[in-house]
Amino acid sequence: MKSRRELILEEMGLAPVWRLRPGATQAEKDLSATGDESAITSFVSRSPSLEPALVEHQSRTGYHAPSVTPPPSRPTRHAPPVTESGDARRSAIMAMQWPELKARVSGCTDCLLHQKRTKTVFGVGDENADWLFVGEGPGAEEDAKGEPFVGQAGRLLDNMLPAIGLKRGTNVYIANCVKCRPPGNRNPEPGEALACEPYLHRQIELIQPRLIVALGKVAAQNLLNTDTSIASLRGRIHRYRGIPLIVTYHPAYLLRSLPEKAKSWEDLCFAVRVMRDLQGAGGAPT
Ligand code: URA
Ligand code: SF4
Repeated sequence: MKSRRELILEEMGLAPVWRLRPGATQAEKDLSATGDESAITSFVSRSPSLEPALVEHQSRTGYHAPSVTPPPSRPTRHAPPVTESGDARRSAIMAMQWPELKARVSGCTDCLLHQKRTKTVFGVGDENADWLFVGEGPGAEEDAKGEPFVGQAGRLLDNMLPAIGLKRGTNVYIANCVKCRPPGNRNPEPGEALACEPYLHRQIELIQPRLIVALGKVAAQNLLNTDTSIASLRGRIHRYRGIPLIVTYHPAYLLRSLPEKAKSWEDLCFAVRVMRDLQGAGGAPT
């Protein structure tokens, strides 16, 4: 009999979604079969430990540990210079607590994206989450509702989370690189992403997630300050200001490219292994 999830996805024209590729390991089959916590636990306890060498990219202001692999140079990407007033703005934002930060974003006019937005999309979820998922920016439905990932890609994300024992709002926070919708769903310009970055930076400092999952190329490249392709960023642990970060495809891309779903599933299995190791290293699991 089909599960509710399968029926929903079929309805959306997305099924079958998490079909295992040939040659999947027993652990992945266990995880896939139920998607429940016990399967994940047994999967993780039998999985090899993480590779010791962390691949780190220097973030924009780069105060964390030195990179193992030097980041590729990107001479023109972040064109606007960091000005004195930019520094003061960042410092002010970095001193804010949640209520002030939310109010600041909802009235923000600091880049041109404010002109066409309906609502700002701050982020949503557990403010003490271990897991932080970061997308690129709001689409039309997010712009209308003021909440991230509520359109078609969001529905797929909501179907991916239970596959690894998670659900929106419980130990999970969801945010975007830019808080206002780029018109026509274009990618945010580098200057726009840069203008909005202090807000995400402050959110991350307040949340202190154990693991960041960058959803798609735009989020990954902005968070890691790199032009490297998503194909080569996947499957490794990077860092955003010292916090472990992994990269996977954006749900919207998966909607267009069904074969990539298998790779996305591998990424989620990898994320679970990384999280278990991090929880093991940092005290009792939560
Ligand atoms: N795509 C994103 O990157 N973020 C959203 O919130 C919705 C779609
Ligand atoms: Fe402000 Fe970010 Fe919106 Fe630009 S995208 S106006 S920086 S909140």
